Amino acid sequence: MLKRIFEGTPFLLPADGHNRALMHSAVASLHGVEHITLGYSIRRRPIDMYKFGKGRGRVVFFGTHHALESITANILYTFVYTLNGGERLDLYDGEVPELYTSLYTYYVVPCLNPDGVEIRFSGDKLSPIFPRVAKMADGDFSSWQANARGVDLNHNYEYGFAEYKAVEAARGIRAGVSLYSGEYPESEPESRLAANLVRILKPRAVVSLHTQGEEIFYAPTDACRAARALGRICGYSVGLPTDTALYGGLCDYTGYALSIPSFTLEIGRGKNPLPESDVPAALKRVGPALLTLPKYV
Ligand SMILES: [Zn+2]
Repeated sequence: MLKRIFEGTPFLLPADGHNRALMHSAVASLHGVEHITLGYSIRRRPIDMYKFGKGRGRVVFFGTHHALESITANILYTFVYTLNGGERLDLYDGEVPELYTSLYTYYVVPCLNPDGVEIRFSGDKLSPIFPRVAKMADGDFSSWQANARGVDLNHNYEYGFAEYKAVEAARGIRAGVSLYSGEYPESEPESRLAANLVRILKPRAVVSLHTQGEEIFYAPTDACRAARALGRICGYSVGLPTDTALYGGLCDYTGYALSIPSFTLEIGRGKNPLPESDVPAALKRVGPALLTLPKYV
């Protein structure tokens, strides 16, 4: 069982800074994995990226835009770990992972929002801006999704931003736990860094991992076929985003503004935050889709 294989590893522990450092040690030492520090969060926490594969086609995966969804960091760390020989997992139904890693290069950013994760788990009480964060959270950090300035990173990209500002005003959304889009597009170092990476790499596809719902959203509209292929592999439904999910998200920007096939995966089912014990089952469904994605785009 996958779960048993992961016993004794850090991959099923809450993805706070301490445990991410353990996951980092486990993957960064694997042969074929290159670690790059993409940049730093508001609170100067490193944002790590792992690169593997030898092919010319590039794909980029992001986890943990939202702090409450940090299980997506665990999933991406285990994805890197299993594909680079950390464990032998029978994930791919007769297919050989090496075929894909010889044709494509995978860029994996497990945790784009390390400050938010620290706030969610501990309040990040030693931070000089703790009083401001505590006020924004009304003292309750348990549902914190945003970064350290109370900006929801997945509403901070330059597509539909102005439209969202109107929605925000109508609903009285302000800096805080979630949904606030920030002063201007890419005002936050974390979102700027993600957008810069995509602009520089010009990948074949972008995937952003969230929880939950077992759904795949896609952009632009002609990425529908690829989304359906992914949906078949994961057993997830496929749709176009609605309501607040329509504006300012990474995949809206990369899909519509940059014309790169982009997919938001809402992993798992239940109530956020999903338990880390869900990682093996989630990886089993999503891992093959992430690996084989480049052939569908
Ligand atoms: Zn999310």
